Amino acid sequence: MNARHDNPVPGAQDGLGQPAPRPRTRRVVFVCCDALGHEWIDAHLTPVMYALAHDGLWCANHRAVFPSVTRVSAACVATGCLPYRHGLHGNQMGLIEGGKLRVYDVGQPDFRTHLRRATGTTLRMPTLAERVAGHGGFIAMSNVSPGAAYFLDPEHFGHVYHRAGSYAPGGQPIVGTAALQIGQDFGGDWAMTRRFCTEVLTWRRPSIAVLWLAHPDATLHAAPLGSAAHREALRHADRCVAEVLRTVRRLRTQGDDILLLAGSDHGQETIAGSIDIDAWLCAQGLAQQIEAGEIAVAAQGTAALLYATETGRPKLHEVLDRLRGEPWVDALETGVALRARGMAAQDGIVAAINLAQVAGENTYGVRGKRWTAAEPGKTKVPGHGEHGGWGTDETRPFLIVDHASVTPMTVEQRTSLVDIAPTMLDFLGLPHGGLDGRSLLMPHRAQPAGAGADSRG
Ligand SMILES: [Zn+2]
Repeated sequence: MNARHDNPVPGAQDGLGQPAPRPRTRRVVFVCCDALGHEWIDAHLTPVMYALAHDGLWCANHRAVFPSVTRVSAACVATGCLPYRHGLHGNQMGLIEGGKLRVYDVGQPDFRTHLRRATGTTLRMPTLAERVAGHGGFIAMSNVSPGAAYFLDPEHFGHVYHRAGSYAPGGQPIVGTAALQIGQDFGGDWAMTRRFCTEVLTWRRPSIAVLWLAHPDATLHAAPLGSAAHREALRHADRCVAEVLRTVRRLRTQGDDILLLAGSDHGQETIAGSIDIDAWLCAQGLAQQIEAGEIAVAAQGTAALLYATETGRPKLHEVLDRLRGEPWVDALETGVALRARGMAAQDGIVAAINLAQVAGENTYGVRGKRWTAAEPGKTKVPGHGEHGGWGTDETRPFLIVDHASVTPMTVEQRTSLVDIAPTMLDFLGLPHGGLDGRSLLMPHRAQPAGAGADSRG
């Protein structure tokens, strides 16, 4: 019996025609459990991922990028490059249009149009989708914000499925039952996972397949860390990863050579209170500059980016030391320090601020209470989860690399989201030089040898 013909699924025809057997080739699968911090991987809440971490390469010092937000993370995973190189600054970012700054929500489906108009392009570095366009293709299914889904492949070299709209190569819309008609709840994540396993992994078999779950992130933006809701979201993510793992293991027994990466993009911390940075700047006498689009703030949850035009820059610089001294500011960085964060004083960016920690734990005994930047139209509820800055736990996602050729071990040296793309390209035998990340396969293939890596045997 051949399931390819017995069980046609939505999307099986889009852009690919009738599914047909393909020669066995190497391919890569990445599952991202949005906002699942590495400290939450344990034997009880996430037993499948816990076991997988022991079977594969466990990156014990895996780090988020700055800002630790999903849209930037998606662009870093897609390009293997840091924000100052790929050009996407945050979940919100300032663009200079007609000499004036305007802050846009990157999550909106039409943001790419604004970015293209202001800068002439979207991402400045090639994506995985572009790199494998002639080498087996790229398919992503994502249940996070539209912006975070589309920045995996903003120029449509591959297929991206999202509930706000799905696209085939060239930007051709995928419509009807072939689109991804799901909610952003557990049921939506689960339906997407099942379809991903059957249609993408078993039938269509692209070189790179990405599954990006909405939870636990979507849960934590409306619930405390450590709460029953959070724990249920962790079990849910583990169930989804288990389904992918089951599929990958079955396909491997049938001869497929699949590298499996399971990870997340950032963690979360707890909202202690929120600060309106625009209002603070106005109170310092900069209302006129903000009104004129000479100075702007792009809030990033527990962090913010400060922008200025050439005209606004001197006025903004006058207040930076005062801002740095506010009790709700942990650190304010410019110049070389900003560059070390993976950001740069370019495209209007002047400074980044990380909001301060507040003493104490949340109701469930979880550390990491933080100030957060107020955003128009968004309610920041104290006690709920948040992320975006360079706090201890929001910057600690997890990553597991699983393949027969990878020695099970704990990697103590620092790894990053930007290592994911070069690892995938390395496995596929494609060029991966010139990226900010490095392949995690190189020191860990065959024999445990790399500096700072301890074999767990
Ligand atoms: Zn995220």
